[in-house]
Amino acid sequence: MNHQKNNDWSPESWQRKAAGQQPLYRDPEQVDSVVARLNRLPQLVTHGEIEALKQQLAEASRGERFLLQGGDCAESFDDCTAENIANKLKILLQMSLVLVTGMRKRITRVGRIAGQYAKPRSADTETRDGVTLPSYRGDLINRSPFTAEDREPDPELMLRGYERAALTLNHIRALVDGGFADLHHPENWDLDFVRSSAMKQEYRRIVDSVLDSLQFMETIAGGRVSGSGRVDFFTSHEALQLHYEQAQTHRVRANGRWYNMSTHFPWIGMRTAELDGAHIEYFRGIANPIAVKVGPGMSPETLKELVRVLNPDNEAGRLTLIHRLGASRIKELLPPMIEAVQSTGRSVLWTCDPMHGNTETTQSGIKTRRVENVFSELEQAFHLHEANDSHLGGVHIELTGENVTECLGGASGLTEQDLEKAYRSQVDPRLNYDQALELAMRVAGYRLR
Ligand code: PEP
Ligand code: MN
Repeated sequence: MNHQKNNDWSPESWQRKAAGQQPLYRDPEQVDSVVARLNRLPQLVTHGEIEALKQQLAEASRGERFLLQGGDCAESFDDCTAENIANKLKILLQMSLVLVTGMRKRITRVGRIAGQYAKPRSADTETRDGVTLPSYRGDLINRSPFTAEDREPDPELMLRGYERAALTLNHIRALVDGGFADLHHPENWDLDFVRSSAMKQEYRRIVDSVLDSLQFMETIAGGRVSGSGRVDFFTSHEALQLHYEQAQTHRVRANGRWYNMSTHFPWIGMRTAELDGAHIEYFRGIANPIAVKVGPGMSPETLKELVRVLNPDNEAGRLTLIHRLGASRIKELLPPMIEAVQSTGRSVLWTCDPMHGNTETTQSGIKTRRVENVFSELEQAFHLHEANDSHLGGVHIELTGENVTECLGGASGLTEQDLEKAYRSQVDPRLNYDQALELAMRVAGYRLR
């Protein structure tokens, strides 16, 4: 395949290609006007932060670190509240504390946050009682109520999305800078909602032992240990709506490279990872670390080509492959994929999304996932990489810091009857607070039963 050189690339060159999963806007001039206005607004993240994350991902690809990436399937504008943001940060911090003690590796925390507003859909339209309307594609595109007005794609929502992302990021930065992640404030490390007493006990033991070591080091150092009060926290989202991404793509004077400055770490979803499609075209020209979801339909041949196009200079930390194959198929599908990537000689970071290959629908029509399948896929992923001269450097999950009932099973034994109690996701079912913590404990090797 003959790929164009980078000098043919521009932030809008994707428009020459077929773009899947894009809304049909009625007024193209309004879209252009929104893109121009968005382009003038301040960047949400800096290229220094983006490059720092790339370094960390490079370390993870060498097995020196582990990536924890998680958050909602879709953020909604209404859920942009201080409490929601703090709860998501809190569960990710708690999980990373468990992982760091169990794995003895530094952890990189990345939220699916501050921009996760656009969703791919299996159908362009939805029909109810004989009425057909455009599908809801996330708050960045249209609104979810089933009326013609709400479902009409509205370009102005890109500006509302940018604003929500800015508010979210501002709050995250304030929390992190204000000591939210400081281990000296145990109240921020307390558990909410967790019902399983085995897990509570194990978690307390972990926190106590970390605090003990910290105090020990501080006694020796005669004061605070530098870095103990601060953490890095990065953002990511599926860069699906390419006008939104294009508008926030800027050239950095210092190195002449283009960066998507709406997020540190954009990814390409499974449905838009076509080699000659618009998303690959857009992604090949930005300097951010990027990720691609790899589903069961991707052939090893395509995967090889993808790696060549997206990481032409074999830059460490540049490309993450997030496989999402399902607990029952990973064993058959993953080894040939690993081999294909190895044959390119390029470095990638492999991570596992154990959620999206394990979605099912209950008899009463509720979309759910079984925690045992989620854990099983993840456990198999660790073993399969090891057995194939590779390693798993991270995990990508859908979770919430709230006590929802969307996934089945786990230490507190959620059943189908429980699902309706607090099912709040507009799209995919997320691990709740204690299911997410349990996942971290299992990955870290703690025994809970
Ligand atoms: C998602 O991450 O919410 C998603 C839609 O995943 P995938 O592209 O892997 O189906
Ligand atoms: Mn999802």
